[in-house]
Formats: sequence, C-alpha cells, structure tokens
Amino acid sequence: MGSGVPFRVLTINAGSSSVKLAVFDTAANTQLFKSVLERVSSVEDAVRGIPALLKAQGIAAPDAVGHRVAHGGARFRDACAIDAGVIEAIEACVPLAPMHNPLALAGIKAAARAWPDVPQVAVFDTAFHQTIPERAATYAVPRAWREAGVRRYGFHGTSHKYVMQRVAEELRTPPTELRIISCHLGNGASICAIERGASVDTSMGMTALEGLVMGTRCGDVDPGLFAHLERTLGLSAAGIERSLYRESGLAALSGLGNDMRDIEKRAAEGDRNAQLAIQVYAYRVRKYLGAYAAAMSGVDVIAFTGGIGEHSASMRARILSGLEFLGLALDEDRNAGVRLADSEAPQIQRDNSRVRVIVTRTREQWMIARETARILARETAPAQAPAPIPIAVSAHHVHLTQAAVEQLFGAGHRLTLRKALSQPGAWAAEETVDVIGPRGELARLRVLGPCREANQIEIAETEAYKLGIDAPLRLSGDTRGTPVVTLRGPTGSLRTEGLIVAKRHIHMSPQDAAARGLKHGDLAEVAVNSEGRDLVFRDVAIRVDPQFVTEMHIDTDEANAAHLEHGGAGELAPVEGCSARITRCHAPEGAGDTSCCLHEPEDRRAA
Ligand code: ADP
Repeated sequence: MGSGVPFRVLTINAGSSSVKLAVFDTAANTQLFKSVLERVSSVEDAVRGIPALLKAQGIAAPDAVGHRVAHGGARFRDACAIDAGVIEAIEACVPLAPMHNPLALAGIKAAARAWPDVPQVAVFDTAFHQTIPERAATYAVPRAWREAGVRRYGFHGTSHKYVMQRVAEELRTPPTELRIISCHLGNGASICAIERGASVDTSMGMTALEGLVMGTRCGDVDPGLFAHLERTLGLSAAGIERSLYRESGLAALSGLGNDMRDIEKRAAEGDRNAQLAIQVYAYRVRKYLGAYAAAMSGVDVIAFTGGIGEHSASMRARILSGLEFLGLALDEDRNAGVRLADSEAPQIQRDNSRVRVIVTRTREQWMIARETARILARETAPAQAPAPIPIAVSAHHVHLTQAAVEQLFGAGHRLTLRKALSQPGAWAAEETVDVIGPRGELARLRVLGPCREANQIEIAETEAYKLGIDAPLRLSGDTRGTPVVTLRGPTGSLRTEGLIVAKRHIHMSPQDAAARGLKHGDLAEVAVNSEGRDLVFRDVAIRVDPQFVTEMHIDTDEANAAHLEHGGAGELAPVEGCSARITRCHAPEGAGDTSCCLHEPEDRRAA
C-alpha cells in the first residue's frame, strides 16, 4: 500500500442475479478490470472466485475493497470503513431493504474471508441523501410508524453524487455554488435536487418504488390503491407490492417490455400504448423538475444520466419541453448530437439559456472506489492537536445598507457604535429594528455595523415560525433569492430580501487554519463541550480571512441545544468556559481529494 493510502480498489456490487466487480487504480484514475458475474449460485461463491479471476488477469490483490450497500438507514451519513459494529448496523437496516442488504452483507463477509487483512468500506446508496431536510424526508403518517423508520431515505445516492461532481468539474464551479437537478434515468430511475453541494430532495423515498416511472416500477401512485385493489380484485398487499415493483412502469404501460429503445421504435410506428408510456414517463420527470426548481428557488443545471438519460435525445427533449419559463432553452442539434464514449459531459442548452443542460454517463463503480480511497485516507491521516476553539452565540441581528438605515432611521442617519464585537471591525449599533413576517413579528433586532452592500436578517429557525416564513440555511453574504420581510424602524419601513438562518461556521485566521490543515470552504465536524450536554455539530463551514479572529459562531437554537449560556438577545456573545474542538473535516463535495481528519486533545476546555 506504499504511503498507507489505498490505490488499487476492488469494488463489489452484489445483486440478486449478478455480481458486478471492478478494480480501479484510484491514484492514476484508471480502471484496471471490470466484469459482471452473471447467474451466480450465491454471492459467497461469486466473491470466492474473484481472487483467481484477478490472478488470471495479472492483477495483484486489492489494497481495499469497496462495497455498494443499498440501505444505510438514518445511521450512515457517509461511506465508512467496515468493522463488526458497522456490519451489525447494516444488518439492522435489513428490514428497510430486505432484498438488497442481505446480498451486500454476504459480499462483505465473503470478501473479509478472501482478503482478511484488506480494509473494506461500505458505500451506501442512501448516504448522499442524509442532508435532505426533515420537511422533505417526513411522511405525514402516524408517529408510531415514523418511529419505526417510515421516512424518505432516497437511493441512487452514489450516482447523483458522481453527477454533481462531474457537473461541477465541467463547469469549473464548486458544487457549493450550484443548484443542480440530477436525473438518473435507467431501469431504476430517480431525480435529485442538489442545492449547493447537498441533496435536499429526491424522488425515491422509503423504498425504491416512489417517484419516477421506471422500467417495471410504478413510481408515485395513490397509496389508497392498496385497499381498493384488495376490495375490488381480492389482491393481497404482498401481491400488489410485487406488481408495483415488477409488472408496472414502462413495461405495463407499453405492453412491450421495459426497454425504451423498443418503446420509442413502436411509438414512432404509431403504437398508442407505446406513445402513452413515453408521455407518462416524460411528464412525470418534467413535473419533478418543476417541483425541485421550486424547492431550490431556482435551478442552474439539469443533468441527465442512466441508459435513457444518456442515450435518448428525444426523451430529453420531451422532458424539457415547455420549461422556457425557467430560463431554459434546449439546443435541438446539440441534444441530438450527443454521443458519449467515455466520461464526457457535453452541454446541450442554447448559448442564451440561463439553465445549463448536461448529459453524462454515470460511474457508480468508479465512485465506490473513490469513496473507498477517500474514507481510508481519512482514517490513516495523522492526528494533530491544535488548541480548542472559542465559541460565540450569535443572537438574531440585522445588517443594513446605508440606504436602508436612512429609510428606517431618517435621512442622513448614521449608525451609532454601541459595542465592538470579537471579530475585528464588527460592532453592535445602538439601533434596533422590528422584523415583520406574514404571521408575526420579531421586535428590536440589533443592527450590526458597519453598513453592508445588501440587507441581511439573521434569525434562529424557531423564530422563522413566529414570522411564518421558511428561512433558508445560508452562509452570511449569500442572500440571493432569500425570502422578503418588512423591516420597521422609527421613521419608516421597507420590504427587503435577506432573511436567513445562518449556517454554523468557524471564523479562522489563515495562521490557525494552516496549523490545522484547513482551508476556506472546508466542512468540519465539531464537538462542543458543555456541562453534561456535549454535542457534535456537523457541516460547520470553515471561513478563513486575514481579518478573522478564530471563533465558532452558532445561533441561539444551537446554543440552547448544547445548554450553552447566552444572553439571548442582541449580538454576538462569547460563551465563557466552553469551547469547541474539530474532530473531523472534509472538503465540500466535488472539491477534490483534500479530505483530512483531525483529532484535537481531550482537554478542550478553554481557560
Ligand atoms: P440500469 O438501471 O439497470 O443500470 P441502464 O442505466 O443501463 O439501467 O438503463 C437501461 C435503460 O436505458 C433501458 O430502458 C434501455 O432501454 C435504455 N436505453 C439504453 N440505450 C438507449 C437508447 N439508445 N435509446 C433509448 N433508450 C436507451
């Protein structure tokens, strides 16, 4: 293994009738071998045969093995190195994926026997979607069902994540600056809203049945049909479920099987059933495109992948027709001219289209190999022990433009300094304003100086309910497309966008960042020490600037959750006797292989 970072990664995707395997050199970005073992008697037998197969190809034993695991439940937010505890946790997810997880487990156990000293990593189809907010993941069903695990998980995460990274690479724009809708249209199909690097919604739900029309799966149906079919046709729940998985979708509508090539051919010859299948299929995708554009307050890129997404120009055109209102203009010639040979990602919109449209071939096996290498590199990174980080609680506050100051406090008014804050140049002003939403108001939010180029109103999520507005989670300064509220001051009021719930973050001086091997834009996992209520915050953004004093900022909801004492109103207040330590950090999705893992000392209490 040389440096300790694995480079020759074997990937295993154990299915019911076949085992897909591949070997990649992740350092050289190349595929060394690929095979599909079909009609296998068992996963164990298939995996047992792999060492001889690799030997016959002249390929040395792998440095690591990456396994595709369908369901990681709510537990796994990322791929992870496999140990006995992880195997147990995957077993616990079997009820959520009774057909798939047992196959993955069989593959994992057989691989552990075949290569006992080689590290193994589980890459979950569900992990990428663990960032989906509660409002999108929750079904409105009885609490007892939800407590039993009934919620939306989403699948095809490895593919959607790959597409996100490939799109970002193609556009030379970090995923954190993009709103992407990824359409994976294969035999199974799903669509995913990826907002600034994180999945925020996806069409598959608790199972892989929900959402788009698929080869033989129905996608969205009215759950009332279960009782209706039982009463009218005498069908059982198990029988209906089987038909929804295996006898529905394109196959049911067309009566021609599930191959889109056949369906398109017959539709062109006038077959009404084939035409209907195509229409229903395209309409369902288009409906989700509209929904996800709304979910993200817009869309920058629509990406197509999967057999149908990659190859069917007519289906892409049909799906995208009528979406000009989104600022999308498809270039018919570019669309028709797409021929993917490798991992190209051609753009097929017209030059004046605001929304870009990209077609690319998904590479799930490759992604599993990369994830495996990433996770193991993280595990073997040397521990470091920098100082703990002070915490400050940022209560609700407002940043204003000079024009807004004059509107609210009178012509020519200048903000008055009340108190300097810990970040150099930042101060709390004497002035306060009221914030008014459709449902209620928040009184006397402290204005912070100096004036900015855009208004920004930072509140806690619980306060958003009081206003009656769904405030987006954003980094300070990123107010594009945020909700509009009314601000009221002593001499006037104004309507302005800029309402956000601030994403938790750590301000860092370049020196402190360098000492920890961190860079601007990294995301950290941070353990906060408090009396009896230690808490780990994930997805904490690292902000590096020469002006900054190193300090973690959380809002009042987060402080309450960690039982941190804070003033509750007005401004940024340091929390005495309490500090944070970074336990782990990674670059945002698609930012390259710059993962790192840090372990700060146990003694993390600030003086
Ligand atoms: P899986 O989900 O099993 O990996 P694929 O991503 O290979 O499936 O997609 C299979 C689907 O892609 C099938 O419906 C197939 O008909 C469709 N497909 C493949 N090539 C074309 C093509 N040239 N035109 C239209 N559909 C195609």
